[in-house]
Amino acid sequence: MADRDPKKCAHPACNCLAANDSKYCGAFCEGEADHPSVLCECGHPGCTPR
Ligand SMILES: [Zn+2]
Ligand SMILES: [Zn+2]
Repeated sequence: MADRDPKKCAHPACNCLAANDSKYCGAFCEGEADHPSVLCECGHPGCTPR
């Protein structure tokens, strides 16, 4: 059993859903996970910093 929703992007600041074959919604979050920031800038709808 997973301790977290596998459909949620693993980036702490990201609200997107992860891809079926990844913990992250995309390459941006996969790279950002090495240095988590307060804002997610993956550019997906509902996840864009102002
Ligand atoms: Zn995001
Ligand atoms: Zn993400």
